[in-house]
Amino acid sequence: MTQRRSIIGGNWKMNTDLETGMALASQVADAASINMACDVVIYPPFPSLQAIDSVISNSPATLGAQNFWPEAKGAFTGEVSCEMLKDLCVTSVLVGHSERRHVLHESDALIAKKVEFALNCGFQVVLCLGETLDQREAGKTHSIVLGQLNSGLESVNHDSMQNVVIAYEPVWAIGTGKTASAEDAQTVHRAIREALASRYDDSVASSTRIQYGGSVKPENAKELFACSDIDGALVGGAALSGESFAAIIEAAC
Ligand code: PEP
Repeated sequence: MTQRRSIIGGNWKMNTDLETGMALASQVADAASINMACDVVIYPPFPSLQAIDSVISNSPATLGAQNFWPEAKGAFTGEVSCEMLKDLCVTSVLVGHSERRHVLHESDALIAKKVEFALNCGFQVVLCLGETLDQREAGKTHSIVLGQLNSGLESVNHDSMQNVVIAYEPVWAIGTGKTASAEDAQTVHRAIREALASRYDDSVASSTRIQYGGSVKPENAKELFACSDIDGALVGGAALSGESFAAIIEAAC
């Protein structure tokens, strides 16, 4: 069986200013240096990326971006291109986060285009999937999540999958304090891995890392990471505390 390296992402969303962000990044750099057995990526707000890079560049922690626009350049007021992000040493991007799907109304088609574009630019893509509470209660969790998986990976070939990480993030668990039970999360992660085997093959299925996201905190991290198909976490709220994020990194390594 392929040994997968855990990956812990910290999604800062629209939080932190320059000063608090740099202080937090310094704590992340320290935690990543102590726990070298897993990957640590942080996704700060755009205006802080350059400053944060200067804080983490001598550590194993790497820099990610929360968003980008899937065109090389041009008249896209307010948007940021992949090349601009590369200049700032960004190596990973989030695509399909529930806040972009549900608050900013990004469609499956746009998400698929972003996945393809970012991979072609050489980024690691973290493709986020997750069902709403209504969908879960209607028994549609697997059909929604696997539908988002297949649609997001529409143009992704076998070889490109080495640069894809999947994040399963039930929408009802994001920022709410509610976490899927480790057992429920494991069931969905297993279904995602089986879908990857059908779509590609067993080697893609066993090597693709699948993070869990949704109110991960130091108190529940160990139990989640003990599940055989959970390969780390994408963390929102708890990533804004250096102590909590460091404890989650430690639990994964
Ligand atoms: C997220 O933003 O991806 C997330 C999982 O947030 P939280 O940890 O706050 O639920």
